[in-house]
Amino acid sequence: SAPLSEVDPEIAAVLQQELDRQRHTLEMIASENFVSRGILEAQGSVLTNKYAEGYPGKRYYGGCEAVDIAEDLARDRAKELFGAEHANVQPHSGATANAAVMMALANPGDRILGLSLAHGGHLTHGMKLNFSGKMYEAHAYELNPETFLIDMETVRARALEVRPAVLIAGWSAYSRHLDFAAFRAIADEVGAKLWVDMAHFAGLVAAGLHPSPVPYADVVSTTVHKTLGGPRSGLILCKSEYAKKIDSAVFPGQQGGPLMHVIAAKAVAFKAAMQPEFIDRQQRTIEGARIIAERLGQPDVVGAGVSVLTGGTDVHLVLVDLRNSEIDGQTAENLLHEAGVTVNKNAVPNDPRPPMVTSGIRIGTSALATRGFTAKEFNEVADIIAHALIPGSDLAALRARVHNLTDSIPLYSNLENW
Ligand code: PLP
Repeated sequence: SAPLSEVDPEIAAVLQQELDRQRHTLEMIASENFVSRGILEAQGSVLTNKYAEGYPGKRYYGGCEAVDIAEDLARDRAKELFGAEHANVQPHSGATANAAVMMALANPGDRILGLSLAHGGHLTHGMKLNFSGKMYEAHAYELNPETFLIDMETVRARALEVRPAVLIAGWSAYSRHLDFAAFRAIADEVGAKLWVDMAHFAGLVAAGLHPSPVPYADVVSTTVHKTLGGPRSGLILCKSEYAKKIDSAVFPGQQGGPLMHVIAAKAVAFKAAMQPEFIDRQQRTIEGARIIAERLGQPDVVGAGVSVLTGGTDVHLVLVDLRNSEIDGQTAENLLHEAGVTVNKNAVPNDPRPPMVTSGIRIGTSALATRGFTAKEFNEVADIIAHALIPGSDLAALRARVHNLTDSIPLYSNLENW
């Protein structure tokens, strides 16, 4: 049949426009990354045609011989990569993975306890409009108001008060390691199951650069597309004793037919994550974030009322605090956009500005590390961001510096168009 450019030139133009945007700007949204050509190929393959409800060897549809191989490879590689007893690779997304985890570990109406959304938690950890807040009695623990760190004594006190069925560790905006052993001890003390959502830092865990929650948690969920660098989707890991419950919570509990093209792409991603280059990439990711945090701590930026929450970072992101700046989170996002840097505004704990404005931004380095950026480029990126956050900066000059960087390390240079 005819190529996309002929059958639907409008959508073909969108794809080209987006490829150009990714190529010519600095992608620094902490939850994003660039997938490899192999992952694009697996995802854009004929596996999208196949219905395969059920699990390998136990399907409700015929003709699953080939896709069974893909799912077995994905499951085996996920288990090997993270040292897990069981893996379910079918969740369409992080949110559906989390819905399945909750379904397996708790009953509707049970109490759950996770990090407050306003302090860096995720919607699926108990936000009131989300399934997690509607189906369960959701409670939250908060960051220490002075240090902006998760204080395990506070978590313990909240857990003793709430007595949750499920204790949740994991975040969407937090720049330090979590103490999984302490979470485990608290869960045991209050009789809760421990669920860790490592969506953001899974790639760092896979590379051995972040403590692994797998030995401590009853269940670990993750997205595959953030630091892990795979296709947009979810993954659940658990101890063998939860395998049956998790599998039946994913299918038929939450989903129908699995996306076999995405599952094949997950297998490709897990294989890539076992290669030495992957560790190098995750090291550059963390180094890049540290370089940015350090630059934003220099007097010219600090003098403009900017600071970095917790004073630095252990991971792939930096949380910028703009409460004392005349530039709010939305304005910072816009200024950086004009300079060619894509980030998102992000509320800081107890943010005095409204949620659509905020007093912070979240800056991530995964995508640029995948692109090939090293300390040299990250130093330049850090200086560009620093200048954009100082009022009255020359945005056109910053944009030119961004172009130099994107020209010096091209993205998807082996793709004509897509
Ligand atoms: N869990 C955490 C911690 C996240 O940060 C996210 C996404 O931002 C999700 C789950 C949900 O992932 P998805 O957007 O694939 O549903």
